[in-house]
Amino acid sequence: MYQAAPKRYETMNYRRVGNSGLKLPALSLGLWNNFGDNAQAENQKKLILGAFDRGITHFDLANNYGPPAGSAERNFGRIFKEELSNYRDELIVSSKAGFYMWEGPYGEWGSRKSIIASCDQSLMRCGLEYFDIFYHHRPDPDTPLEETALALDQLIRAGKALYIGISNYEAEQTKKIGQIFKELKTPFILNQSKYNLFERQIEEDLVPVLDEKKLGAIAYSPLSQGLLTNRYLNGIPADSRASQSDNLFLTEEKVTQTIEKVKQLNKLAQKRGQTLAQLSLAWNLRLPCISSVIIGASRMEQLEDNLRSLNQLHFSDEELKEIDQILS
Ligand code: NDP
Repeated sequence: MYQAAPKRYETMNYRRVGNSGLKLPALSLGLWNNFGDNAQAENQKKLILGAFDRGITHFDLANNYGPPAGSAERNFGRIFKEELSNYRDELIVSSKAGFYMWEGPYGEWGSRKSIIASCDQSLMRCGLEYFDIFYHHRPDPDTPLEETALALDQLIRAGKALYIGISNYEAEQTKKIGQIFKELKTPFILNQSKYNLFERQIEEDLVPVLDEKKLGAIAYSPLSQGLLTNRYLNGIPADSRASQSDNLFLTEEKVTQTIEKVKQLNKLAQKRGQTLAQLSLAWNLRLPCISSVIIGASRMEQLEDNLRSLNQLHFSDEELKEIDQILS
């Protein structure tokens, strides 16, 4: 059986989530892509164990990750059972409910029925007794916020989750559900949102709320799915995300639209002695409320490259200004 690297905690930074007791690694690994049944099982194992060997204790899942939906949780569950079960208390595993998962009126959104059934299914697929963090994946315009909050609170009381998070909730929605959790004394600690050099909306409204309420933020797609790396500097590689014709989230058009700015950012990264991926991740981590950035990776070299961002997190005022100018 796998033995974790003895020095795994020596180089990673762990950052406190809001004012909770929980600390997350500065980089977490997300299993949205590259962990479905369409991806090589051996590579999945390499990435998960390689991440853990380097101090990445947090793995982020959702009911619908795959494809097919559910397969990322099942694949994680298999690797956990075969290799990682001795390390359960060193792991933070999260999952989510809210996006479409099964047919009929209960397979998505935020009803009590949907959230509790979805969490039970996810635990079963992962072979876990509890999730460390369980999220509501997106706000539901039709279900009363109180019902969603109470369902999440019940997962805590039933021992199925240790902490609660929300994802894709805007500032006002975060305030409102935060107030309900406060009354219930639910351990609600963080908001998972998209944040990267190209998508900075949360700076305006959400970050001030999280700071005020002493909640944590965890950033997803910090590399804009690969755009903010050297992946597309010389065209679209055949094995990349943007080359997949069924990928609605990262298209060839998006690559073309952003490439000029990407090249300028890459020059700045080179001046700092970093790769563009390293600059992008370090830039995300400059905000104190960001507890962790959740990266995706299709191969170990990407993970290694991204981890080296931690060697240089500081930005001078001039560098920050230059970044703003490039992006304006
Ligand atoms: P990233 O922005 O980190 O993109 C990851 C992709 O970028 C990789 O698959 C790879 O692309 C490329 N890449 C990564 N590192 C490098 C590198 N060093 N050099 C070159 N290319 C690199 O994150 P994701 O969009 O994958 O999101 C990360 C996680 O966030 C998800 O797995 C999920 O857990 C979470 N998430 C949550 C959402 C929510 O609604 N709550 C929504 C989306 C994501 P390639 O595969 O082409 O090699």
